[in-house]
Amino acid sequence: MAAEWAFFEGEYVPIEDAKVSVRTHALNYGTGAFEGIRGYWNEDDEQLYMFRVAEHFERLHRSARILRMNLRFSVEELVEIATNVAARNGYRTDVYIRPVAYKSTEIVGLSMARRTETGIEFYPDDFFLYAVPFGDYLHVNKPISCGVCSWQRIDDNMIPARAKATGLYINSALARTEAEENGYDEAIMLTAAGHVSEGSGENLFIVRDGKLITPSHSENILEGITRATVIQLARDEMGLETIECPIDRTELYIADEIFLCGTGAQISAVSQVDHRTVGSGEIGPITADLMKLYFDVVKGRHPKYANWCTGVYPASVNAAVRQT
Ligand code: PMP
Repeated sequence: MAAEWAFFEGEYVPIEDAKVSVRTHALNYGTGAFEGIRGYWNEDDEQLYMFRVAEHFERLHRSARILRMNLRFSVEELVEIATNVAARNGYRTDVYIRPVAYKSTEIVGLSMARRTETGIEFYPDDFFLYAVPFGDYLHVNKPISCGVCSWQRIDDNMIPARAKATGLYINSALARTEAEENGYDEAIMLTAAGHVSEGSGENLFIVRDGKLITPSHSENILEGITRATVIQLARDEMGLETIECPIDRTELYIADEIFLCGTGAQISAVSQVDHRTVGSGEIGPITADLMKLYFDVVKGRHPKYANWCTGVYPASVNAAVRQT
């Protein structure tokens, strides 16, 4: 089998050589920030398109900033690293790209910095990136069931949810595991105030009386790139404005449609919450329209949004012929 490549400690290395020490701060304390980027294989263009890859790396920079980490690569350099890893692996299938910025110091102790005579000195950080072939994370051809979770969504003042911190994902892992143990496909987490926040790895939208509603950024959500994509596509392609406001738990029970969205999840319709059927119990009409649009856009089939799709391989002959 061909070697799989990763980017680790500033170099492209075979994946089996990309290993951290057991003493790594991030491994012991969860002091990392990560992203998940999808690459979609487009057979006609013979191209692997990374979706909104620059926006993911911009968010990684914001996460690093919140977590007092120094991400030494620019967004452009990070895009190049992602491109190189995916291309070296020669993927001709859908993939998931996982960049991680992390506290790489091997010092035992919680602080990410130490005092010196001249001021404060931050311990070293590093960055790695790998990619894996990836299918659907949640169903997209049929609706899913969700349960409101007993684990509350962590608050911004505990672990900032808008920083995609590795340690934060204990919250999501507990929620998702509970959902699966209870027979649901996915968890819906509430804030401490009892408002709907999001799924364990997805933002949430409801449709009520033809209006799209989603929790605002101050409901401890991750500021999702798919969420922003959905808001823009709904507005510009369907003439639907999204209302960003608090959503109560019981609004889930009376919504006409609900869907979850995220890079991994894509757009997944919810047909049941806490054993109550949502709408007709099928994929609702607004969700279905959005899904169709979304998949056209991410697969590089919607010319208007072609700038959201970054090809991994040099432009193929097929694509060049079509552009002329
Ligand atoms: N919320 C959480 C907790 C997530 O992990 C994700 C996945 N990154 C999302 C929302 C959706 O974010 P995005 O659309 O940027 O992938």
